[in-house]
Amino acid sequence: MIMENFDVVVIGGGPGGYVAAIKAAQLGLKVACVEKRKTLGGTCLNIGCIPSKALLDSSEKYAELTHKFADHGINCSSVKLDLAKMISRKDEIVKGLTKGIEGLLKKNKITHYCGTGKIIKQNEVEVSSSDIKKVIGAKNIVIATGADVISIPNVEINEQNIVSSTGALSLKKVPKKMIVIGGGYIGLEMGSVWQRLGAEVEVIEFMDSIVSSMDNEIGLQLHKSLEKEGIKFRLSTKVLSAKSTNKTVEINVENVKTNKQEKLSCDALLVAVGRSPYTKNLGIDVLGIQKDSKGKIVVNDKYATNIPNIYAIGDVIDGPMLAHKAEDEGVAVAEFIAGQVGHVNYNAIPAVIYTSPEVASVGQTEEQLKKANLDYNVGKFPFLANGRAKASGCTDGMVKILACKKTDKILGAHIIGPNAGTMIAELVLAMEYMASSEDVARTIHAHPTLNEAVKEAALATFSKALHI
Ligand SMILES: Cc1cc2nc3c(=O)[nH]c(=O)nc-3n(C[C@H](O)[C@H](O)[C@H](O)COP(=O)(O)OP(=O)(O)OC[C@H]3O[C@@H](n4cnc5c(N)ncnc54)[C@H](O)[C@@H]3O)c2cc1C
Repeated sequence: MIMENFDVVVIGGGPGGYVAAIKAAQLGLKVACVEKRKTLGGTCLNIGCIPSKALLDSSEKYAELTHKFADHGINCSSVKLDLAKMISRKDEIVKGLTKGIEGLLKKNKITHYCGTGKIIKQNEVEVSSSDIKKVIGAKNIVIATGADVISIPNVEINEQNIVSSTGALSLKKVPKKMIVIGGGYIGLEMGSVWQRLGAEVEVIEFMDSIVSSMDNEIGLQLHKSLEKEGIKFRLSTKVLSAKSTNKTVEINVENVKTNKQEKLSCDALLVAVGRSPYTKNLGIDVLGIQKDSKGKIVVNDKYATNIPNIYAIGDVIDGPMLAHKAEDEGVAVAEFIAGQVGHVNYNAIPAVIYTSPEVASVGQTEEQLKKANLDYNVGKFPFLANGRAKASGCTDGMVKILACKKTDKILGAHIIGPNAGTMIAELVLAMEYMASSEDVARTIHAHPTLNEAVKEAALATFSKALHI
C-alpha cells in the first residue's frame, strides 16, 4: 500500500541527491529523499571530499611545522603528533556537516527516509531498513546513488591493512611503509596525508604517468614536486596480487613493459584504482533501465533515463566523478522536472587535486587540442616570479592558459601551485562567459596576490607577460 505520494522521490542523499531535493522543494514540489546511510551527504561528506581534506589540511600543518617553518625563522623543538585527535577532529567535522544537511532538508520541508530505496514500479519506491518497510508514490524519481570503490583481482580489501580510501581515512597508526595502488587523485591525496605524517609512501601506477588525464606538462611537474616531498613512484607497473600476513602485506608486481616481476612488502596497502557506478538492489534491471558497458545509467540531455519519469544524476551517470558536477546536475534535473530549463556546461567543470602543490584544471589539455588539430596559443607564468608566492615561500608551480589562436577564447587552463583549487575559479568563470585571455589580462587583479600569476599567464597567451 502506498503510504504517501510525492512529486519527486530522490534516491541517494549525496551532493547530487540532496541538492536535487532542495532545488525541487525550492521550486514548489513535494519531495522525499531516501538515503540508506544513517547520515546524509553521501560519499562526499562521509568518506570522500570533506574527511580527506580535513586530513590533508591537518597533515599539511604538521609537515609545515616539522619541515618548513624553520625557513620563516620559526623553530619548533618538540612537535608531537596526536593522530587520534587528528582523526577525531576529522570525524567531528563530518558529523557537523552531515547534520547541517539534515537541517537543510528540514528547512525545505523535504521528507527524509532513512533506508534503502528500491524502484518497484515506474511510480513506486519501496523504502526498507531494519525497522521500516514502506512504499511511497513518486510522480518523478531521481536516482543519485553514486559510486563505490573498485577492487582489483587477487587483492582483498579488509579495511585493516589492505584499505580503500575509506579505511585510509581512519588508520589507527602511521604506517612505516604504505604502498598506494593507483596514481589518480584519491591515491595521491591519501598518499600525501600519510607521507606527511611520517610514512614512507610508494605509488604504483599501471600507466606511464600519474593522473594520465592531466595536461602532460603539469602532470610531469606534479610528479617531480611530489617526489621532492618524498613520495616514490613505480610507473608502468601492474599489481598481480596482494596478501595480508600477520603484520605485513606482501605484494607481487609486474613491470608491464619488461614483464619483470618483483615482490614488495608494506604495512598498509591502499587500493585507489577508481570508482564504479553503484546501482545494487535498486530494481532498475527489472524495470529495464538502460546502462552502458561500464554500468553507468544512460540518460538524455534532460537526465531522463529510457523511462521518462525516472532520472539519474551524479557519479551514477557518465562524466567526471566530482561532487560539484553532481550538485550542478542536481539543480538542473530539478529545474527540468519543474518544467524549467536546466544547464550544466561540461566544458567548464574544474577538477582539483589537493596535494602539495595543488593542481587545478578546467577545459582542454594541450594534448587534447593537438589531437583535435586546433590552433592555439599558450601563456605560462611561474609562481617563482609572483611576489605573493615569494613572500609566503610557495614558489613551486605555474599557471598555464590555452587560448584559440584565431579568437583568443580560453579553451583550457591549468594551475599547479599554492591554492590552485581556489584560483581556478576565475578561469572557470572566464570560460563560462567565453572570455578571451585578453579579457582576463585586462581585468585588474589585486597586488600582491597569487592570482596575479593568472593575469600574467593570460597576458603571455596573446601578448607578453610583464613581470618575467
Ligand atoms: C576519498 C575521496 C575523496 C574525494 N574528494 C573529492 C573532492 O575533493 N572533490 C570532488 O569534487 N569530489 C571528490 N570525491 C568524489 C565525490 O565524493 C563524488 O563525486 C560525489 O560524492 C558524488 O555525488 P553523488 O551524489 O553522485 O553520489 P554519492 O555522494 O556517492 O551519494 C550517493 C548516496 O546514495 C546512497 N545510496 C546508494 N544506493 C542507495 C539506495 N538504494 N537507497 C538509498 N540510498 C542509496 C549512498 O549511501 C550515498 O550516500 C571524492 C571521493 C572520494 C572517495
